Amino acid sequence: MPGFEFFGAEERKEVNDVLETGILMRYGFDGPRKGIWKALELEKAITEVFGCKYAQLTSSGTAALTTAMCALGIGVGDEIIMPAFTFVASFEAVLSVGAIPVLVDIDETLTLSPEAVKAAITPKTKCIMPVHMCGSMADMDALVAICAEHKLILIEDACQSIGGTYKGQALGTIGDAGTFSFDFVKTITCAEGGVVMTNNKDVFVKSDGYTDHGHDHLGVDRGADLHPFIGYNFRISELHAAVGLAQIRKLETFLTIQRKNNKALRAHLETIPEIRYRVVPDEAGDSCSFLSWFLPTETIAKAVVAEFKEQGILAGNFYWFVNNWHYISKWDHLKHATTLNGIGVQQKASLLALQETQFPASDAIMGRCISTAISLLWTDEQIKEKGEKMVAAIQKVLKHSYTNSI
Ligand SMILES: *Cc1c(COP(=O)(O)O)cnc(C)c1O
Repeated sequence: MPGFEFFGAEERKEVNDVLETGILMRYGFDGPRKGIWKALELEKAITEVFGCKYAQLTSSGTAALTTAMCALGIGVGDEIIMPAFTFVASFEAVLSVGAIPVLVDIDETLTLSPEAVKAAITPKTKCIMPVHMCGSMADMDALVAICAEHKLILIEDACQSIGGTYKGQALGTIGDAGTFSFDFVKTITCAEGGVVMTNNKDVFVKSDGYTDHGHDHLGVDRGADLHPFIGYNFRISELHAAVGLAQIRKLETFLTIQRKNNKALRAHLETIPEIRYRVVPDEAGDSCSFLSWFLPTETIAKAVVAEFKEQGILAGNFYWFVNNWHYISKWDHLKHATTLNGIGVQQKASLLALQETQFPASDAIMGRCISTAISLLWTDEQIKEKGEKMVAAIQKVLKHSYTNSI
């Protein structure tokens, strides 16, 4: 899964280019930087590799989501429909622009259920935000159609699915805007960073200004820039962009290894007929950073997790259902609107209402789901050993469950 597994001479070289000039900032200092523009170069590479018209780097994936929302005019009182299974960053961004996160069920794609989305649309809905979780994708045809019918904005949180595609288009480039994160555990990393991708020039120009205090970046003298609107500072540094540049050149290699290792591990699990797999709307586009699989019941899934733990093979296997970061069941701070400062009355009421909201359809899926992170460093031997140990542990639990009919 993560690019940090392949950190080496290429990253050091790119960072050194920047250290040699000492210009760590992405804007200005045209003379002393001696032609070194790592952030610009990375943005260009992103548009080429992922096939979008524009890319704006940011200081994190969360900042990229916030920026995309601002650039698309989403703000106070607007409702954004998003899944109950995602990383906390997705709703943090929604809250940061004053909007209301409307959490809805996922389906067996582990992403937004189009049916649940339709049922959640109100006159206040402004945007639908699918999250392409764990390397694979939402049913984009269905979501694009819903957005077209109801004239809604589509933002893709593709932070976890760098390199995934849907019917030939890169995830993150299909909606009005899409984002990646380059934090330390993502498919390509630059320690901290993110990007807003779009094919809409207006969204790009606004993102460009918003991430740098509203600077219009039109002149050569930064101090003389005008401020057409109020912005913020979500800039990436040249040092971070330099690492990202080395990493994006390795993306194809990462994806090839990920797909190979994912397939090899899956072949072991496929010897167990009771196991089902995540539904992938376009199999060819799975980035394969995770292998997500379902056990027959929540009880069995919990027993498998306990057995993995017992045998010391739990590392890299995520049981999101009880994970503090990724599923609504553990987001008490959200449900209690625990913020450090005052928030809008409407926003607060919508969060408190989550205490009463049930997600039975998502619970039924997440309770049975385990996601195995795919390492780039596994050898064939290690995959075999891992696969055999996992299969033996799962079979032990299944056998026990049949005897005791749990
Ligand atoms: C990692 C992640 C983010 C945010 O990324 P940061 O760069 O850590 O701010 C947003 N959404 C999802 C689904 C993520 O996994």
